[in-house]
Amino acid sequence: RTVASQITNLPPTAELQARDARHHLHPFTHAAGLAEKGARIITRAEGCWLTDSEGNTILDAMAGLWCVNVGYGRQELVEAAARQMAELPFYNTFFQTTHVPAIELSERLAELAPEHMNRVFFAGSGSEANDTNIRMVRTYWDLKGQPERVNIISRWNAYHGSSVGSGSLGGMKGMHAQGGMPIPGIHHIDQPNWWAEGGDMSPEDFGRARAQALEEKILELGPDTVAAFIAEPVQGAGGVIVPPESYWPEVSRIVEKYGILLIADEVICGFGRTGNWFGSETMGIRPDIMTIAKGLSSGYQPIGGSIVSDEVAEVIGGAEFNHGYTYSGHPVACAVALENLRILDEEGIVTRVRTETGPYLKQKFESLTEHPLVGEAKIVGMMGSIALTPDKASRAAFAADAGTVGYLCRERCFANNLVMRHVGDRMIVSPPLVISKAEIDTLIERAWRSLDEAMAEAEAQGLM
Ligand code: PMP
Repeated sequence: RTVASQITNLPPTAELQARDARHHLHPFTHAAGLAEKGARIITRAEGCWLTDSEGNTILDAMAGLWCVNVGYGRQELVEAAARQMAELPFYNTFFQTTHVPAIELSERLAELAPEHMNRVFFAGSGSEANDTNIRMVRTYWDLKGQPERVNIISRWNAYHGSSVGSGSLGGMKGMHAQGGMPIPGIHHIDQPNWWAEGGDMSPEDFGRARAQALEEKILELGPDTVAAFIAEPVQGAGGVIVPPESYWPEVSRIVEKYGILLIADEVICGFGRTGNWFGSETMGIRPDIMTIAKGLSSGYQPIGGSIVSDEVAEVIGGAEFNHGYTYSGHPVACAVALENLRILDEEGIVTRVRTETGPYLKQKFESLTEHPLVGEAKIVGMMGSIALTPDKASRAAFAADAGTVGYLCRERCFANNLVMRHVGDRMIVSPPLVISKAEIDTLIERAWRSLDEAMAEAEAQGLM
């Protein structure tokens, strides 16, 4: 069931844009540049389709920010929120109290998570959950009598959030440059991005080498000082970097050898995105902690959390953990998440991604490599990326600054009523998991047309 259309009398677009520019500071945005151009105003959405203030209907191949897994406009989620708001709009879980939505959601997550993971610490977002993880793994080792284990290893070009802790875990140099990040004790190793960094190595050799960079970093820091390694099963915001098959088995061997905790950041990969409930299943990883958010509620409510192993839960449970957020286990967010998980499960959405629409999208998406501008296509379930290049054979980068052609392509997509994102010169899709085969066809048609137009423009501007 979907939400009935709410026709509203909107002020003119230009007026809304001017008011937005006057008072609203946007995330990850050059404010002055946007003010000049005017933000696109999204007014409503249904399934995989957005409507803007000019009446355009736009195919959202990014599911918002990788999060609207069940699609827009689900009336059941509206009702779950309204019911919970009427019953108990807020209560905390700090001082020896709890409530039914938090009980039911944590129980359900324990069912869905790998066998050895049965406890959840709730947060309001992925960033908050990763901040929890920093404190949790350090507290874990402290309680185990190894307080010197404080170092956390992450990867360049990872994204783990925007708070000071999670932004430090992330490997985005542009973020580190602002506001004094990273915090002490966070160390980064290179990413398994074969296309951009693999040189003459085979993908498998390169994947193994990039995993072994973890062992080198552990030895450099001293194995007794390392608390954890954190990684996304498939890097998302870094450009949907699907690691070579050799990567995760070697990482798993290394974390096991040194007894280091493994944090799988499932904020994007979780809840069906890769065709299983968790990306860890798809990649064959056995994490100690999983970060969750986004698809947990399909973005209908802000909620995140850390699902932890029985071993970690037991150790952490041995003392007071001085940590928590006002909205940890928010009852309305929990109620909506529970209903969202019911929809994902009962409508067979995760299974369909694995067996039907995922393989269909993969086949169509990989056909984009026939376009002269596209070097490689990588896709797992419903997260994929293509690399734009002026020369496929050498995997060359453009002479122009990284992201110039990618941005151009994104702009052409937008003009063709398709939301795709660019990260540098990679173009990304991560559509709602309910996308139909006909909508996948539309996505690919529009992407192809946008690539044609972007190439023509890049040539006209002398960028190729
Ligand atoms: N981890 C990953 C892998 C993410 O992709 C994101 C958000 N894009 C985050 C953490 C941060 O989540 P949030 O924006 O909800 O704080």
